[in-house]
Amino acid sequence: QTETPAFGRVLLKISGEALMGDTTFGLHPPTVQRIAREVKSVRDMGTEICMVIGGGNIFRGLAGSAQGMERTTADYMGMLATVMNALAMQSALEELGVFTRVVSAIPMDQVCEPYIRRRAVRHLEKKRVVIFAAGTGNPYFTTDTAATLRASEMSCEAIFKGTKVDGVYDKDPKKHADAKRYETVSYDEVLQKHLGVMDASAIALARENRLPIIVFSLDEPGGFRGILAGRGTYTRVTA
Ligand code: UDP
Repeated sequence: QTETPAFGRVLLKISGEALMGDTTFGLHPPTVQRIAREVKSVRDMGTEICMVIGGGNIFRGLAGSAQGMERTTADYMGMLATVMNALAMQSALEELGVFTRVVSAIPMDQVCEPYIRRRAVRHLEKKRVVIFAAGTGNPYFTTDTAATLRASEMSCEAIFKGTKVDGVYDKDPKKHADAKRYETVSYDEVLQKHLGVMDASAIALARENRLPIIVFSLDEPGGFRGILAGRGTYTRVTA
């Protein structure tokens, strides 16, 4: 508990699929609880934490529009899916005694707070975990872009992108034994080589705002905290 964190304020981005565990749809409560414990262990070091959770475990706009649904409507459904995930994570965090606020880009006052930048900053200063729901509030965007936007607005020092592998590789490490992990990689290289860290608009926004992206494995117990304490393997995406 005496470790000093390397960052004062970070944003953790996870996909909706990270909450599925080994299932193929929706929420797997033990997995949500496990991730909540990882978040708590970082919060307990004193780091202020923002979170953005995707919605792909429930609904993706592109999938809906591919099946004939109007794209913007499908995207709103995807944004609503992120609200469900945010509420599930809030519940798991508060079960652990971590005060948490869900703030939504689409106001729905009975369910959570609307996103108001200054208010969100205040929550962070009070050491509450803030979960930013409903993406950017706009169709045709992704939660990766929402994560970069909110991290910039909240003056986060880095985005932590939790994935299934411990960094960015030159090819899929689950398929190729000789895949090589980058220690650091530039935004431009990520874009040119289509390294699939986040979508292109999110990477471009991070580049403009000089926001480092730390890609790490969320499957590794204690991994999130370890990186903040200066341990572990990850890839750092910077200029
Ligand atoms: N979405 C959107 N605008 C946003 C963020 C998300 O329209 O600003 C919709 C979009 O349809 C997307 C869905 O919400 O497919 C779920 O988000 P995402 O695909 O980013 O989730 P993830 O892949 O991270 O689980």
